[in-house]
Amino acid sequence: MSNTISDEIWTKLSCPQCSGPVEITNKAVSCQVCNTTFPALPNGGVDLRLQLPRQCQSVVTIEPSPLYPRLSFEPLKSAKPLDKEKRLSRLPPRISTELAARFPKATGKTALMLDLGCGKMIHRELVEHQGFRYVGLDRDDPGAMFLGDAQALPFTDGSFEFVLSISVLQEVPHPEMMIREAFRVLTPGGVFIGSAAYLESYSRTYHHFTHLGLNALLQQEGFAVEAIAPNPRWTAPISLLGNGLFPYMPRPLAVALVSPVYVGHRIWWWLGGFLHPQATESNRLLLTTGSFFFIARKPIV
Ligand SMILES: [Zn+2]
Repeated sequence: MSNTISDEIWTKLSCPQCSGPVEITNKAVSCQVCNTTFPALPNGGVDLRLQLPRQCQSVVTIEPSPLYPRLSFEPLKSAKPLDKEKRLSRLPPRISTELAARFPKATGKTALMLDLGCGKMIHRELVEHQGFRYVGLDRDDPGAMFLGDAQALPFTDGSFEFVLSISVLQEVPHPEMMIREAFRVLTPGGVFIGSAAYLESYSRTYHHFTHLGLNALLQQEGFAVEAIAPNPRWTAPISLLGNGLFPYMPRPLAVALVSPVYVGHRIWWWLGGFLHPQATESNRLLLTTGSFFFIARKPIV
């Protein structure tokens, strides 16, 4: 795994402030339209965060009678088995084997992938294994390749075949703008995969998403939604343990305190399965998951 920044990405940068073309001098980036200069970072990347407020407009369509989506909202099943290397390597937290199996393969040697809200870039190895050139952007993490705002991306239209965003959507004030930006920077046919919080508690989040809300936002911004699925290994009792319920408590003790409720909950749903057709495992996960996975594609027009 290389730590270098792919040459291709430098030709795909644009001004996050005005979307104008940029000039690169000694790794610092200057806009040729609004003259904003974005400083180089010690790690070779660039701080491309907004320096002034940027106004965006949102136009939405309100349907007279919204239909319940045709998606099943079932937990993901692997469409194909994981290959040997992926099976053997440990997957980053928050990425299930079923989600990893849905990652696209790069169509060429220079295909770019954007890790939106990349943090310490823990997904890099996994996506480079798919043949992509990795680009990591984060709002705050100094270890990221580029610093930037997910709601005002510093990349030209159609730069990436794959955008991944794990547990970030809830952390931006305007999630529809983040989805719109992911759509803009994808190539037609490109895939947007990620996860968004539902029953998690953090003090720094703005919005938490139900399956219906996530589906509506992705569709509103033009995506064809292929799947929205509860994360079966990140259910509310687990996700709430260390945050809202028992912060800073040693995990074994927190697990011991929650276990009786959890066991009762599982037994109650199991019993319900004999009495009510809606008391399925899929519905239990839908109602109690800590986060939803999503897989959405930018249509080819
Ligand atoms: Zn500019």
